[in-house]
Amino acid sequence: IYQRSSQLFAEAEKVIPGGVNSPVRAFKAVGGTPIFVKSAKGAYLYDEDGNRLIDYINSWGPMVLGHAYAPVVDAVVAKAQLGTSFGMPTELETQIAALAVSMVPNIDKIRFVNSGTEACMSAIRLARGYTKRDKIIKFAGCYHGHSDSFLIQAGSGAITFGSPNSPGVTEGTAKDTLLARYNDLDNVETLIAANKNEIAAIIVEPVAGNMGCIPPQNGFLEGLRQLCSDNGILLIFDEVMTGFRLAKGGVQELYGIQADIVCFGKVIGGGLPVGAFAARSEIMNHLAPLGPVYQAGTLSGNPLAMAAGLAMLQALNNDAAIFQRLEEKTAYLAAGIDRVLKANNVVFTINRVGSMISVHFDADPVVDFQSAAKGDNATFKKFFHGLLQEGIYIAPSAYETWFITDALTYEDLDVTIQAIDKVSKTF
Ligand code: PLP
Repeated sequence: IYQRSSQLFAEAEKVIPGGVNSPVRAFKAVGGTPIFVKSAKGAYLYDEDGNRLIDYINSWGPMVLGHAYAPVVDAVVAKAQLGTSFGMPTELETQIAALAVSMVPNIDKIRFVNSGTEACMSAIRLARGYTKRDKIIKFAGCYHGHSDSFLIQAGSGAITFGSPNSPGVTEGTAKDTLLARYNDLDNVETLIAANKNEIAAIIVEPVAGNMGCIPPQNGFLEGLRQLCSDNGILLIFDEVMTGFRLAKGGVQELYGIQADIVCFGKVIGGGLPVGAFAARSEIMNHLAPLGPVYQAGTLSGNPLAMAAGLAMLQALNNDAAIFQRLEEKTAYLAAGIDRVLKANNVVFTINRVGSMISVHFDADPVVDFQSAAKGDNATFKKFFHGLLQEGIYIAPSAYETWFITDALTYEDLDVTIQAIDKVSKTF
């Protein structure tokens, strides 16, 4: 039933290496071709064949209020009609900056860039400039974008960037990157001891959304905070996935942990390409022209992107119940999946934090992306393709997170749970 998507994918492959943008890398693990989407509205995607899909990929996270959310669309159209000059500042940038700073704890200045990758790269550069140190600790399986800062083999679950045989692209070989294990404080402490006064920052996905939605263990983020404070190291929360999704103030608010620099992407752009990084003034004032750390970008802060992001943040800020609603819908879905999979005697794990979940077919909550027997195994493939036949589009890998949006109705969730019941009977 998704024939036209296959044809379009074949056409794309002739001119775009690997076919099309991000879905391809994830689809590699599960087989088949990505769906070519013709239009999207609310919780639904419509493909070129006219099929309607309930969408849990959510453009990989940004559209927390659903696709084509009217206030965002209207804001972009209005600014486009004004023909505002790109590359020139507008007061929209000030407005979204002021709003973001008021929503997120512990930050008082924010700079806009064009993607989550750029946000993380910029945060690293700023941390190095501020501490005058070079080394960075990152965690295996945490993904911070496709930049040279973290060219890694096992970046996002099973998804490999390059291969172990490509010089310079294996995990941990990016210059001055020290690789640590997520949720393992002892390991971090050992790395710090071995590199005394050389580590500029620890960057972490505070909820590991690119490993199958792994929550931080009790004490892990607190421990990182303490180790950073004790050793003159900056703690960078990569909240590209979690920011403005798990809580108004992100993971800092959710768990009450203070980061030094926070990176944003996805939701903050309302669907347009926006990234941002933020910190206290004392750190942010190291950016040029006030300080020595170069930061610029032709289209950074462009009015269309700022208009979209501002409309999105305003909607989230003005809706006192939004994060509670997302939490309830997600808990309802997770409980329903749990119920039907248990009833069908399936071995599985659901990881959930707020409006993010992942499901894989193994009893271990941590997806083992080195082992073909776990994670994207034969059962997951049946699950994914079975759901697609039922008109439900989930992330095509057990290492990827499902994003629940406010546009999903309880009826959509019930349809999804029933479909999962049906598909899991075929395992
Ligand atoms: N950091 C995290 C936690 C992400 O999930 C992603 C993207 O998925 C990025 C950084 C990179 O963001 P972008 O794809 O916008 O460059």
